[in-house]
Amino acid sequence: MNKGNQERANIVSNENGISKLSQSVKNDKDATEENPSHDEKKVEKPKENANRVPNQPEALDVLVNKQYKLPDHYEPTDLVIPNVRFIFSGNLEKKKMRQEAARALENMFSGAEKDGILLAGVSGYRSQATQKSLYNSYVNRNGKEAAERFSAHPGHSEHQTGLAMDISGITGKCAATDCFEGSPEAKWLAEHAHEYGFIVRYPKGKEDITGYKYEPWHMRFVGIDIANTIFEKDITMEEYFDAVVPVRGN
Ligand SMILES: [Zn+2]
Repeated sequence: MNKGNQERANIVSNENGISKLSQSVKNDKDATEENPSHDEKKVEKPKENANRVPNQPEALDVLVNKQYKLPDHYEPTDLVIPNVRFIFSGNLEKKKMRQEAARALENMFSGAEKDGILLAGVSGYRSQATQKSLYNSYVNRNGKEAAERFSAHPGHSEHQTGLAMDISGITGKCAATDCFEGSPEAKWLAEHAHEYGFIVRYPKGKEDITGYKYEPWHMRFVGIDIANTIFEKDITMEEYFDAVVPVRGN
């Protein structure tokens, strides 16, 4: 709505092409810069628990959100179709994930099945062009304010990384909708996804931090170590990377 605000935020790109709002995230990179006048230790001292925000779009733990944008039309080079059930047929773009995430997804689906939970894929990779038309259709249907709470701007969607998959039960009931909450599948994912390297990316009650309302179906692959930490500390990916941006009132 207020475009001036956005302009003032001054979007910058770092050397690897991930853009961010310059005012919003501290750049502690300077701490590593050469400074000959300093004494023996010129090692950066990151804040406790602060992990460096990965700035390579192809990093498995890349942070993509309303502040961090992927390089324009970024497309992963190792997209594959995981060998799991989907609620739709055909070899569509949205079945795809990056190789490592796809393998982890297969393991997670078999793990769930051993517990009697039959999962199905709903939506994985999405190109920037697809995201653009999706976002626009939500804005037309729901209005901009509502759409912002559940749909990402083009270049800002985790689905474009090939590391996210929306998941439902095999009936497809409540696929990617609020009524998925509390289902056996949602409960299983909340309890076990981290064991396979996935996190519930938009947890309940964390909209102020993630920018999105609760999505018990949206699983993001980050690797087992990070997923375990995020799960055990009950934090978001933004908190993990110390990249929480105060919500702008508008
Ligand atoms: Zn999603």
